[in-house]
Amino acid sequence: MADYSFNGGIVIKNPYLVDKVEIIQAPLPTKVVLSLQQLGGQVKPCVSIGDYVLVGQVIASAKDGFSVPIHAPISGVVLSIDKQTIAHQSGLKSECITIESDGKDKWIDRKNNHVDFLHYSTKALIEAIQKSGIVGLGGAGFPTHIKIDKVVDCHTLIINGTECEPGVMCDDALMQFHPREIIRGVEILLHICGAKRVIIAIEEDKQVAYHALLTFNHNDRISVNQIPTKYTSGAEKLLIKALLDVEIPSGGFAVDKGIICQNIATAKAVFDAVISHRPLVSRIVTVTGDGVRPNNFEVRLGASFEHLISLVSPNKRVHNYRMGGMMMGIDVADINAPIGKTTSAIFVNNQVQKPVIQECIRCGQCSEVCPVGLLPQQLYWHAKSENIEKALNYNLPDCIECACCDYVCPSHIPLASYFSFAKALGKQQTREQDKSNIARERFECREHRLERNKLERTQMMADKKKVLKEKMAKEQSQKQKVDEAMQRVKQAKDKR
Ligand code: SF4
Ligand code: SF4
Repeated sequence: MADYSFNGGIVIKNPYLVDKVEIIQAPLPTKVVLSLQQLGGQVKPCVSIGDYVLVGQVIASAKDGFSVPIHAPISGVVLSIDKQTIAHQSGLKSECITIESDGKDKWIDRKNNHVDFLHYSTKALIEAIQKSGIVGLGGAGFPTHIKIDKVVDCHTLIINGTECEPGVMCDDALMQFHPREIIRGVEILLHICGAKRVIIAIEEDKQVAYHALLTFNHNDRISVNQIPTKYTSGAEKLLIKALLDVEIPSGGFAVDKGIICQNIATAKAVFDAVISHRPLVSRIVTVTGDGVRPNNFEVRLGASFEHLISLVSPNKRVHNYRMGGMMMGIDVADINAPIGKTTSAIFVNNQVQKPVIQECIRCGQCSEVCPVGLLPQQLYWHAKSENIEKALNYNLPDCIECACCDYVCPSHIPLASYFSFAKALGKQQTREQDKSNIARERFECREHRLERNKLERTQMMADKKKVLKEKMAKEQSQKQKVDEAMQRVKQAKDKR
């Protein structure tokens, strides 16, 4: 077997083991909260308070080609359209639609489908994907239709089935229980982007899922490759390097090199949208941590974190909550926050005393594990002293904030947080620099304009003076001529 590995990274065993990976259907929530915020901006509600809605009905329409519509995940009545807390790093509230369930789970009519998808144009299929509200389910939530629409000369489609973080099992569960739908979804994506081949990447420790995919794959353009179980193998650029030995340069995109990456859950969502005409109204979420009995749930979007946590028998201790992975996730204070399209996991951990941060002892361990070859120790000094220029010289923008360096640091320094802060500060400084450049340009333009006006005025005055002088000279000469004529007349008179 080929060695699809990369430098750096760390091997972290799943700290919250389960006997068997499963998918449990979570009960219907009594209410759901759907955020209108998307990457491209806020979408517009097309329902009013008091409206009755069916599952799959569009409740907020896409405002442009960069957003996707939002569908009702439950049937019931629109309770409110207002600002609510969502699980987001910013901690800010977002405009949301709240639906109260009628408990009936009544769906819209879903008769249309594209089972024979090969007979449909890529345009029609991309439209079906956009109308189904599909965004990348791996983390960033980038609209899928945009990623597959913009591709030119795609040679390889990579389907990322590597569970990006230790402890997260939702993709493993999906591959074990829906291999047929995933392979079909991959074939649809392949038909759309016209790649020569597809590589489904899966980690070596997911043998059940690997064999399930092999069983249902009869397409010789699709291969299923096992890669070493190592964090951060799921990071897009590292995966491309490991599988194809292609470097995506700093600031570059995979698509520029003819490569498209999609998450395995996105492929399943594409199958649902195109073949079953089922919009994205639910997702698989792993609920794990040492405060609960870990499991995977298929849950309707907009259900609260609390709704899922109550299903995994949380112990009576005080907990910390985290959304996403244990490494790159974000801490969540309010478990009434709703589950969104990118909520892959919820960690419920017993609250423990955080280790005291010590001085850097220059052990160099952080450099050894950095998967993108940075020097975190040096970056740390510059980030800490807010010397962004120096941090940029040490390739700060290349940091993927994976926290491998934090994990190994014996001094418990939260390095990745420093880098994230430094990046934000860098962006702010660039914005301020841009603003000051604009202000300086405006000032210079104004000065130039004033100078030009002054010159014009001086010129005008000089012109006026000249005209006046000429006029006076002319008048003087005329007067002189008149005087001379008068003189001549007088002289003539005198002679007579
Ligand atoms: S691992 Fe921590 S202590 Fe060691 S060099 Fe890096 S920052 Fe310093
Ligand atoms: S957080 Fe950044 S610096 Fe630290 S290991 Fe990851 S990529 Fe390297």
